[in-house]
Amino acid sequence: MISNLHPDETKTFYESFDAPIAAFDCGRKCAPYNERGVPFCCDTRHAVPTVYQAEWDYLLANTDLWHLWDAQDIEVKARLREKTPDGMVLIECLGHQHCQRDYRSITCRAFPFFPYLNSAGEFVGLTYYWEYEERCWVISNLGVVTPEYRLQFVEIYDTLLDREAGELMNFGYHSQVMRQVFAERKREIPLMHRDGEVYKITPDDERLHLVNPEDLPKFGPYQIAALMPFPDEQ
Ligand code: SF4
Ligand code: SF4
Repeated sequence: MISNLHPDETKTFYESFDAPIAAFDCGRKCAPYNERGVPFCCDTRHAVPTVYQAEWDYLLANTDLWHLWDAQDIEVKARLREKTPDGMVLIECLGHQHCQRDYRSITCRAFPFFPYLNSAGEFVGLTYYWEYEERCWVISNLGVVTPEYRLQFVEIYDTLLDREAGELMNFGYHSQVMRQVFAERKREIPLMHRDGEVYKITPDDERLHLVNPEDLPKFGPYQIAALMPFPDEQ
């Protein structure tokens, strides 16, 4: 995708989207709940990063951190390739202990969020990939996301959505699916709005209700962890 993006522009994209998601390493919060102590978003058994072709060309020319993703399981491979938008490449890094911060993909930096588009096609803020609710600690603690991260996310996706119609369609479709899924589950969609506030969206009529992020639900093991925080988790 991003057919009009030149590989050299990737560096600019990376420099403009470099703020940490939180004031501390959130990988320390989720890793204890994953096998081998690997943060979920750095474990391709849970999430496989995708990159734009131009981004891949830039990474290949500048770092040995990444290689093309592959899997033994033919069904897993076929399913993931099917879900991957045209022109995007599935990749895998050398592992979380070898992370090179400057060469993290845009999807590494964005995780667990994607740009939420309302039914009018407007990019109103960030929401998260709900299938990771029970794995990603940040999803249960949206209040830790820094304003700088949110701003950079909005600016980078303003540019990407403007330049690539395919991305607009992709995230528009994903937002629509989220509305359907949450409506069926009688749930509201959490939204980190571009105005700096946090809201819940009623999926049927898309009305926004201002919320305190501390009042949003916690999921999986993080429900219990919140009830009995260890001293360094407070
Ligand atoms: S973004 Fe979520 S899954 Fe990734 S390291 Fe942080 S808490 Fe873990
Ligand atoms: S590059 Fe870093 S952030 Fe991205 S998957 Fe690898 S270890 Fe995780």
